[in-house]
Amino acid sequence: MSVKNQANYLTFSWTQEFHTFFTKMPFPSSMIERGTLRFGPMLTSLLFYRRLIRMTVVSSLESPFFTVDFIADGIYAAIAKPGTGAMANAGIIDLGDRTLVFDTTMYTPQAGQALHNTAVQLFDRPVSLVINSHFHLDHVGGNQSFPNAVMISTDQTRTLMLERTQQFLSFALAHPEYPESVKASLEQETDERRRQELSIQLGDLLAMDAALLTLVPSPATISYDGSLTLHGSKRTAVLSAMGNGHSPCDAVLYLPGEEVLFAADLLFVHSHPSVQSGNVSEWIHILDRLGQEAFHTVVPGHGPVADKQALQSLQTYLTELLAQARLLSEQQDPLEAASCTPIPDAYQTWTLDSLYERNLKHLLHQLQSNE
Ligand SMILES: [Zn+2]
Repeated sequence: MSVKNQANYLTFSWTQEFHTFFTKMPFPSSMIERGTLRFGPMLTSLLFYRRLIRMTVVSSLESPFFTVDFIADGIYAAIAKPGTGAMANAGIIDLGDRTLVFDTTMYTPQAGQALHNTAVQLFDRPVSLVINSHFHLDHVGGNQSFPNAVMISTDQTRTLMLERTQQFLSFALAHPEYPESVKASLEQETDERRRQELSIQLGDLLAMDAALLTLVPSPATISYDGSLTLHGSKRTAVLSAMGNGHSPCDAVLYLPGEEVLFAADLLFVHSHPSVQSGNVSEWIHILDRLGQEAFHTVVPGHGPVADKQALQSLQTYLTELLAQARLLSEQQDPLEAASCTPIPDAYQTWTLDSLYERNLKHLLHQLQSNE
């Protein structure tokens, strides 16, 4: 199967939770600091971001799958390294009497176990609580590495996680040829940026493929609707379901005492977001609501730790994307026109640039089906 035919491949439902596999690959701080990225403008821009936030990487806790960023006393972010099979960011929080983990990264046992080990190492006790922000596999796949923790998600996330993970497993096992097809595409690709994107995809794909038979869907043991407040002896954490933005069931975790927000995939930083399984109009409104919260630091689902400005940047991107799709829908051949639409200058340095065209086409399909 050619990667150029991924549009068809993506229509299969398992990719709804596996979407990041093809679409979202943030470049973590560790790669930047080591100078392993070769794209000058992108590097410069990301370095600027790092300087802006001045996040401290706890190098002693770094694993092959993620770096560990110190946010505040007792609050850490695990920032996924691309191409390793971890894929999404996670949070590790000391509530005082209990340890809370927010999202569990991709399902490779090594990545989930590394997150578990880091949490135990940080606070010297077992992890008590695990939250799933939404059902996408790169956020729930490591659940099985926390067998003794109470697992929390919304009802909808729990239901979709079970359903889609099973679909993914069935499909992936039936298509063992896919990693080879990506490898072949990488070998034929001449565009340097596209090669970088494909090589990261291939790394994640091979890690997942190697672990496929060990994946056991491990859903929430406690579900909630609306919001849930966790009262620890040291701090309070407020879990809120935000509705249908990036996915049908996005939740965020807010630490009011420290004014820190874990936004999961409602926020992509310096990366084109995936809009394949949510509602962009609603997402824009959700970002408005999130922006009204008092916080100075936000941990995204993908990309480096950021501040409130990152929400505004994503909101502008989504607004412009929607407007562009509406403009294209009035043309004679909207899909062809989408293929020829250049990425706006403001997003030239964002990672995963192939997503721009795919996002436009997805919105065009939605606009057509709503007519
Ligand atoms: Zn997601």
